[in-house]
Parts: sequence; C-alpha cells; structure tokens
Amino acid sequence: MFFYDPTMILLIPAIIVTIIAQYKISQSYRKYSQIQSYRGLTGEQAAREILNANGIYDVDIEMVRGHMTDHYDPRAKVLRLSRDVFYGSSIASIGIAAHEVGHAIQHNRSYAPLILRNKIVPAVNFGASFSWLLFFMGLILSVRPLLVFGIILFSFTVIFQLVTLPVEFNASSRALKSIVSLNLLNGEEVRGARNVLSSAALTYVAAALMAIMNLLRLIALADRE
Ligand SMILES: [Zn+2]
Repeated sequence: MFFYDPTMILLIPAIIVTIIAQYKISQSYRKYSQIQSYRGLTGEQAAREILNANGIYDVDIEMVRGHMTDHYDPRAKVLRLSRDVFYGSSIASIGIAAHEVGHAIQHNRSYAPLILRNKIVPAVNFGASFSWLLFFMGLILSVRPLLVFGIILFSFTVIFQLVTLPVEFNASSRALKSIVSLNLLNGEEVRGARNVLSSAALTYVAAALMAIMNLLRLIALADRE
C-alpha cells in the first residue's frame, strides 16, 4: 500500500540533490586526489601543523581503514585519517585533513553547535530506530498518539541534520583559513581544496533536505488518517 503513496513525490527534490551532491564530490575528489601539492606535506603533517598553530597538543592522529572514513573522535580526542589522506600529499588529502582538524578545534573551543550535536546523538539514535516503526504501527492500527510520537522521534533526526550544517560549514571555513595562513597550499591549490570541501558540504545539505522532506511526508500521511 505504501508503494503508491503519493507523498513519495515530496522526496523527489531531495533525491535529485543527493544524486548531484554524490556526483560532485566523487568528481571533485577524483580530480584533486591526483594533484600533488607543491609543499608536499602529507595529510598527517598538515593536520599536526594546524593543531600546533592552534595550541592543541592533546589530540592524537591515527590512520583508519577504509576510503573517506576520515573523522575526529571527540571522546578519544583522536583524529582518524584514511590511508590516502594520512600519507597522501594531494590537494584533496590536505583539504580533508584540515577539515577534520577543524572539528578538533571546534571541540577544543567548545563550539556550541558541535556540543549540541554531540548531546542529541542518543535521542537521534533512539529516534532513528523507533520513529518509523511507531509511525507505521500507528498508521496500521489507526492510533493517533503513536503517529504523533513517531513524528516527534523522527524530528530529532531532522534537528541533528540541521545542526550538522553549521558544524560542517564551520569546520571547512576553519580548514581553509588554516591552509591559507600556514601556507599549506598555494593560491591555485586552495581553490581545489575549497572545491572538495564545498562538494562535501553539499552532501550534508542533501541529507538535511531528505530529513526535512521525510518529516513533511510523515506529517502529510498522519493528516490523511
Ligand atoms: Zn566534517
């Protein structure tokens, strides 16, 4: 019965943006991961330089398995870089390493959106597991409070995706500022790093749009009940 659900139409713009975002980031990464930076620093060295320049000495840098698995772990205070980024000295490697350091700096400076995002993670995980289940149970059994509760739980996901946007944009802007001020890349190369980071940012915009549209869809479905 949900196959012919007309509220699916709401998702189409989000799906289009997601496809464009995926295409842009893969193109951008493919291009700039093949161009070596003139200074030849590895991602790890660049990350350490930026951390030092910001007076942060209690963050470890480790290598992590996988492709594009780079992240900052605030609990362990560890920056985990994938092999290509850790050892690589391409424009993409420097850009991604600098972006992840941006998160470490946010953590060090208690950047409010990052704190908020970390705080709501348990509610988001709970909501992600149960919101659809409760919602569809409410729909099938025609129990309105279940529908409402499902929607409330799902809205945590939406809030999380929205709070992620300033966190990601801010990490990238810190990254580019550090890259320029520490002269990690030259002028032309900075443009490449910006291209990689803004393409990555678009994937977060797509995810936020998808969450909002799914929320609207749940509300529309509940309204028909
Ligand atoms: Zn990030």
